[in-house]
Amino acid sequence: MKYLPTIGLEVHAELRTNTKMFCGCQNNPDEKEPNKNTCPVCLGHPGVLPTINKKAVELIIKIGFAVDGEINKQFKFDRKNYFYPDLPKGYQISQFDKPIVKGGSVDIADRLGESKIVELNRVHLEEDAAKLVHSGSDSTLIDFNRGGVPLMELVTEPVIHSAKEAVAFAKELQLILRYLGVSDADLERGQMRVDANISLSADEKLGIRTEIKNLNSFRAIEGAINYEIERQAEVLDSGKKIKQETLGWDDIKNKTISQRSKEEAHDYRYFPEPDLPPMDQSGFDLTALKLEVPELPQVKRLRFKRQFKLFEEQINIIVEDRQEANYFEEAVSELEADASEEATGKKIQLLFNYLNSDLKGLMKERALGFDVIKITSENFADLAEMVFKNEINSRVAKDLLAKMADTGVDPRTIVENEGLGQISGEEALQEIAGRIIENNPAAVTDYKKGKLNALQFLVGKAMAELKGRGNPGVLKSLFEKLLK
Ligand code: ADP
Ligand code: MG
Ligand code: ZN
Repeated sequence: MKYLPTIGLEVHAELRTNTKMFCGCQNNPDEKEPNKNTCPVCLGHPGVLPTINKKAVELIIKIGFAVDGEINKQFKFDRKNYFYPDLPKGYQISQFDKPIVKGGSVDIADRLGESKIVELNRVHLEEDAAKLVHSGSDSTLIDFNRGGVPLMELVTEPVIHSAKEAVAFAKELQLILRYLGVSDADLERGQMRVDANISLSADEKLGIRTEIKNLNSFRAIEGAINYEIERQAEVLDSGKKIKQETLGWDDIKNKTISQRSKEEAHDYRYFPEPDLPPMDQSGFDLTALKLEVPELPQVKRLRFKRQFKLFEEQINIIVEDRQEANYFEEAVSELEADASEEATGKKIQLLFNYLNSDLKGLMKERALGFDVIKITSENFADLAEMVFKNEINSRVAKDLLAKMADTGVDPRTIVENEGLGQISGEEALQEIAGRIIENNPAAVTDYKKGKLNALQFLVGKAMAELKGRGNPGVLKSLFEKLLK
């Protein structure tokens, strides 16, 4: 392509606070009953007075620390005036020239596989609008449960150059918000929404941009940006100019649709919110807030890489969920300390495999989270130890895991109580092996004729009778000995 695409993103995320931004109503994204959590303030009645939710400001400050931004000395709220049915008071309380956070950046190299840092312009705090529910072809309902919920807006510099980079950025930001515990940031549930500004240029100057509003899945972000790059290239190729406008994305038709010509800042006639005092950073305990920022995904990936010697993709999978990463790390720390480096390496691989397939499969099936699963990380580590030492085989391990999830009992106790241990003693296996030989003369003849599959068949028969508890290696050599 002869044009360089440039993209700047504006990301909104609903903050996880107990109450709304400017009133005492509950902030509950799971509330099913429409308009339950409302009061005159968040319904936009005239003459009411908003009060600032300090917790929401603190969450934005934490986000500021996480993205290495600067916390402004002074910040304030402003009125952004516009008319829309989901905003009956005719303005949104937002922040204009003095946001809480200035600058910052997000490193997305781990996701892209090449170095890339996305610089940020700002992070500010505002209130969410109510939710319009279109029912049927001729009526629209309004649910104010969401109206007045604290909303983060984060704005990047125009430094992103492809849909792939935009998606990588959105995913990393979502993960950072989740690590911080400031937002569930679920795109499909509307808790995180992305606007993409896109322009093409043939020289150093930025081109005229369009803005696609409210992208609500990673697929939509990617599809909309790629579509818009193509569309703008065609317009420019035909010698025409790009019209600066606001677009929507049609997920079904896979195309952007014009919504309105782009408004400028002066269209909103921003002015300082007269009902709220300006704030000063001295009103917040920045040191304490900084301490509340946990180890973030990028740092954790790097540390795990050094400590656990797993493959990069394996680490990326674990770190994608903070609770999972903690669980894994705890389980590793419960492994026997005196093992050789090689043995520990193998056990860590076992832990990863059982976590990523069996345990996560079981948790998905039963809709369990790491916060409620009855299998402690210590018991999980014991399971890996037992598999490593051949005390149980992988088939038994799977059943055992399910039993551990049912009862919370440690694996050794379950194995002892239910006699699930691997049987490796030749004496113990002798009787069964003899019986299998007696009952399967055809296989025995085949084996004696040199058909090696027949041996596997006999081992399989024995394993079935032992409900998977036999040691396959010992069984194999036992059959060889008996049939010599
Ligand atoms: P607005 O006030 O219209 O929201 P901003 O200047 O705040 O505009 O920018 C909004 C977003 O658009 C930012 O992410 C910014 O990086 C991006 N942006 C600005 N100009 C361009 C451009 N020419 N091409 C692509 N993105 C742009
Ligand atoms: Mg904007
Ligand atoms: Zn309210």
